[in-house]
Amino acid sequence: MAQINDNFIKIPATYLFSEIAKRVAQHKEANPDAPIIRMGIGDVSLPLPDASVDAMIKAAEEQRHAKTFRGYGPEQGYAFLRDAIVANDFAAKGLDIEADEIFVSDGAKSDTGNIGDIFSVNNRVAITDPSYPVYVDTNAMGGRAGEPNEQNVWSNLVYLPCNMANNFVPQLPDEKIDLIYLCYPNNPTGTTLTHAQLKVWVDYAKANNSIILFDAAYEAFITEENVPRSIYEVEGAREVALEFRSFSKTAGFTGTRCGYTVVPKTVMAFSENGEKVALNKLWNRRHSTKFNGTSYVVQRAAEATFSPEGKKQVKALIEFYTENARIIREGLEKAGYTIYGGKNAPYVWAKAPEGMGSWEYFDYLLKEKNIVTTPGAGFGLSGEGFVRFSAFGSREATIEALKRLEK
Ligand SMILES: *Cc1c(COP(=O)(O)O)cnc(C)c1O
Repeated sequence: MAQINDNFIKIPATYLFSEIAKRVAQHKEANPDAPIIRMGIGDVSLPLPDASVDAMIKAAEEQRHAKTFRGYGPEQGYAFLRDAIVANDFAAKGLDIEADEIFVSDGAKSDTGNIGDIFSVNNRVAITDPSYPVYVDTNAMGGRAGEPNEQNVWSNLVYLPCNMANNFVPQLPDEKIDLIYLCYPNNPTGTTLTHAQLKVWVDYAKANNSIILFDAAYEAFITEENVPRSIYEVEGAREVALEFRSFSKTAGFTGTRCGYTVVPKTVMAFSENGEKVALNKLWNRRHSTKFNGTSYVVQRAAEATFSPEGKKQVKALIEFYTENARIIREGLEKAGYTIYGGKNAPYVWAKAPEGMGSWEYFDYLLKEKNIVTTPGAGFGLSGEGFVRFSAFGSREATIEALKRLEK
């Protein structure tokens, strides 16, 4: 009798985006001419940088000819890309990361989800609340989350609330944890941690032999000086942190697919009999067993984001969304909303009017303003009472949305 992994049936159906789609469809049916603006999406809207498209065309042409054709490449990524990542994302900022500590992949969703493979089911896992749903669901699949209650709160996960009371800075837990997921700049709140606030976590991890899983998918949006772009800017992080990066939000690769994970050779965890084991070795084993490398063509596209033209084009993309975020932030503030984020991130986290829940506020914005947002409650209990505005839309739609909201 074939048996399933029962952990999968404990996970509630992903209800957030299907529920949003359902409510938008109902509203449209009742109001066929409603000028709906979508500010809920977590996907980019601008096309790829020309440098990346040109690189893909060139690479595709290479694949046409026997002389330049490439079959399987290194599972960890081609040297040309790993070296470019080290030079531009780390060495250029004075950070000591080596090419064999970089593992190129098809994106940060896969990596943040798959990383659980190398960790014991016995680890105590902490996540910030609200959070990117992948961390919760993949730990549930791996058997580390326990059982969910009616509110989708899992019995074995440690939730670190991020709310107005703590100004969206997660506080150290009062119990010992082994793995901690941190995502900064944060999805969904758009908030950040300063150097000193992140160091608190690195120090905790060092003192408790814990590992930090740091999701830096939005690092390119950081504009403020005291906000670290990489966790390796924090002293000691090379001993306790893995970092996940993605070309998705940075360079518009959401449909092209490329990301990477940094696993410093100095990060150690323990075997059941107490032996120290380097995570770099384990992740290399996992990655090369279950993954056969990111497409050559796509790796050339990613490499091109580091060329002089590529850098200029990526900068223009980020500046475009950053300006949208400013329009949203300042517009909402002017209209009297209480908001967070949007300064170093493409998301603005807006407080619903007193006494209104996330879904009620979502419905109000949909029905009265024809604006689609994402209800914060979909990201965890602490997201209740908020909605997320995304800056990934067009300039025209962003300006029009704010006109409606300021009224
Ligand atoms: C979008 C996003 C990612 C990136 O996912 P990809 O698989 O690289 O497209 C990772 N983490 C968070 C929090 C995100 O919002």
